[in-house]
Amino acid sequence: MDIFDFSEGREGYYGEYGGVFLPEILQATIEELLECFRECKADPKFWQDYVALLQNYSGRPTPITHLENLSRQLGGAQIYVKRDDLNHTGSHKINNVMGQGLLCQRLGKSKVIAETGAGQHGFATATMAAKFGFECKIYMGAVDVARQRPNVFWMENLGAEVIAVEDGQKTLKDAVNECMRDWVTNMSDTHYILGTACGPHPFPEMVSWFQSIIGLEAREQILKQAGRLPDRVYACVGGGSNAMGIFQGFMDDDNVELIGTEGGGQGVGSYMHSSRLAYDDASVGVAQGYKTYFLQNDEGNMNETHSVAAGLDYIGVNPIFAHLHDQGKVRFEAATDEEVKEALKLTMRTEGLIPALESTHAFVTAIKEAPTMGKDQIILINQSGRGDKDIFTIADALDDAKWKSFIGGKADQYRGEKN
Ligand SMILES: *Cc1c(COP(=O)(O)O)cnc(C)c1O
Repeated sequence: MDIFDFSEGREGYYGEYGGVFLPEILQATIEELLECFRECKADPKFWQDYVALLQNYSGRPTPITHLENLSRQLGGAQIYVKRDDLNHTGSHKINNVMGQGLLCQRLGKSKVIAETGAGQHGFATATMAAKFGFECKIYMGAVDVARQRPNVFWMENLGAEVIAVEDGQKTLKDAVNECMRDWVTNMSDTHYILGTACGPHPFPEMVSWFQSIIGLEAREQILKQAGRLPDRVYACVGGGSNAMGIFQGFMDDDNVELIGTEGGGQGVGSYMHSSRLAYDDASVGVAQGYKTYFLQNDEGNMNETHSVAAGLDYIGVNPIFAHLHDQGKVRFEAATDEEVKEALKLTMRTEGLIPALESTHAFVTAIKEAPTMGKDQIILINQSGRGDKDIFTIADALDDAKWKSFIGGKADQYRGEKN
């Protein structure tokens, strides 16, 4: 099944989802991007350069780890984890960003812009821009700038300009809008590095293509290490790029079930979550350049969303998943903030693994389902990122008293210096 074969449908559409809904003025830029992407995708040398860059700069291929302790404790399926947390900058985001960096070089553009919520995509983009010598601007909601200081600190020190967006709720969707505005004004020398498999065509296809490296590696590795394909593959779903990445390795294997876990926040019915497909609160609409399921009200205004994992906290879902959901090809579940905290404690204590809060969502669903499976069955979880870099968020989430007193002490120390 090639979801990117558009010969029998409209280019850039997945069922009724996807497409390009942008102001007329961006038409030429999008077409230029699409043409360049088509060339890159058809050029084996481009993919080779991409793989070599990630090998030398980001530590690919990332390994697969068999979680023997956790598998034994749960008493069901054998659990394996794809370790994309071991990438440079701490998550799978670097795959897409380095790929788009190479593409930007080919486009002959010298400036990059990007939106960021928690700051992980901005951090990866600033890193790439430093390496490639691009001028870099990162748009970030003012609320996020205030609460994500560690990532802002790194972005600025890597040479990027971080622009606090004061519109709307001052979070991710407002940063995306501001990025689009910048792109319209500066498109002649600027490439927009979109951070996930959302937005107008060709971004969902392009980001999925770069992230497919996860699934390509994982398929080969699990066959070698476990001797056969997994029965189920789990990944967390924000915009949907890491999940698309690993799922593509198993899309044609009808005996492999694909499961995406969204941010369940405070649970079903709370309206404090970011679950577009697992819960029933989202509806189909057009926003930010594409058509998909959005968390919106009856007037088409976007709802407030919530997840303990900032990287999952987004109103829309990638249009490919909207289609695969309708077709029953991918099953969607949600994990609540509480479940995520418990699963994180478990993986830390039993395996010494600290998955990012985002990735821990995939662990929640896997941990629930593993005991219902046979000991000879295999599940594979994509650990999209690592949690040690999120120490502020995780310490807050776990409500750690000693950490609070440490931070309080630091604050006193700075106040003392000022006086
Ligand atoms: C950003 C992020 C996600 C969510 O984005 P997707 O596009 O859905 O992959 C998941 N995990 C980590 C570690 C992230 O940084």
